[in-house]
Amino acid sequence: MKTIYLDHAATTPTDREVVAAMTPYFTDKFGNPSTLYGVGREAKAAIEEAREKVASLLGADPGEVFFTSGGTESDNQALVGIVYANEKKGNHLITCAIEHHAVLDTAEFLKRRGFEATILPVDKYGMVDPEDVRRAINGKTVLVSIMHANNEVGTVQPVAEIGKIAREAGVAFHTDAVQTFGHLPIDVNAMKIDLLSISGHKLYGPKGVGAIYIRKGTRIIPFMHGGGQESRRRAGTHNVPGIVGLGKAAEIAAVEMGSEEAHLSILRDELIASILERVEDVRLNGHPTERLPNNINVCIEGAEGEAMLLSLDMEGICVSSGSACTSGTLNPSHVLLAMGIPAEIAHGSLRVTLGRSTTKKEIDYLLEVLPPIVERLRKMSPLKRTR
Ligand SMILES: *Cc1c(COP(=O)(O)O)cnc(C)c1O
Repeated sequence: MKTIYLDHAATTPTDREVVAAMTPYFTDKFGNPSTLYGVGREAKAAIEEAREKVASLLGADPGEVFFTSGGTESDNQALVGIVYANEKKGNHLITCAIEHHAVLDTAEFLKRRGFEATILPVDKYGMVDPEDVRRAINGKTVLVSIMHANNEVGTVQPVAEIGKIAREAGVAFHTDAVQTFGHLPIDVNAMKIDLLSISGHKLYGPKGVGAIYIRKGTRIIPFMHGGGQESRRRAGTHNVPGIVGLGKAAEIAAVEMGSEEAHLSILRDELIASILERVEDVRLNGHPTERLPNNINVCIEGAEGEAMLLSLDMEGICVSSGSACTSGTLNPSHVLLAMGIPAEIAHGSLRVTLGRSTTKKEIDYLLEVLPPIVERLRKMSPLKRTR
């Protein structure tokens, strides 16, 4: 049985072209980029080329892009680095209730160390109101961190508006763009973004590598201490193959992004419409239009999410329920709860995230096997339906 992979928000397969670009940097071109002889200079040149590719997809200067170990490190660096660098100015940061745990848990960590954090609510679509950001900013605020698009429900936030508000108030603005970099257009200048997080494995690059964009002139302290790599902003010997892979993934995305977005959003809308038509008592989670082109997230009343996931797995289909990071616990997703969805209904959530290789045939197969699975699970589930 061929696997139908529909969990691209959790991770994407590494593009074969990316793997091919990386391979020489494990073997022949193994040099440490901080050394001065041939193989070292070769590795250094490859890193700088990757930096240019990432920067160009952001409308940034290559000198404003720093490589990290992934989205989680970039998020931690942004929050911790900004608040500790600006202690003289203030001790307050603003974020929102549906952020990835890499941001939310870092904000909680900072709260325990005496900083103040305002966690803004979202509406029923998972949208942050920019006016809430404006109202939450006070004289002590040093950072606003609002994600570009949510990894569970796909809602795309009005980051340009939020960036404008933060800029006017003289407050640094960070956005976790892990789900959008290489998928949706980003312009750090037009959107007034000061810091932005990227992860390689969410855009067909390798795992364990990412980047952080830091606007020139931003006051921030480094997160990793040691060698002088990355202009002293991020110590540690470079993950050269990983960085080369991220650069290649960005280069491919720059070419593919537009047509991919158009293709996926059509499949997405067809799938949403068909699920709502073929299964009763289903609600769409997330914003109906302001959403990632590849994201479908529904609550299927009376059927338990984890049970649906396992049943679909037996049919060779990979999807997720709630979030990959929270499965294994019985708590419904913090994102769905923050959107006001009752816990009982949130338990029936199913996330399908399409990718570059997804075909209409795969979607049709999902639509064929899902309704009988739901019917079977509903018969045995203790979860009640609202009607
Ligand atoms: C996957 C993800 C992260 C974490 O990135 P890693 O590279 O896996 O550490 C952070 N934020 C969002 C929105 C994500 O989807």
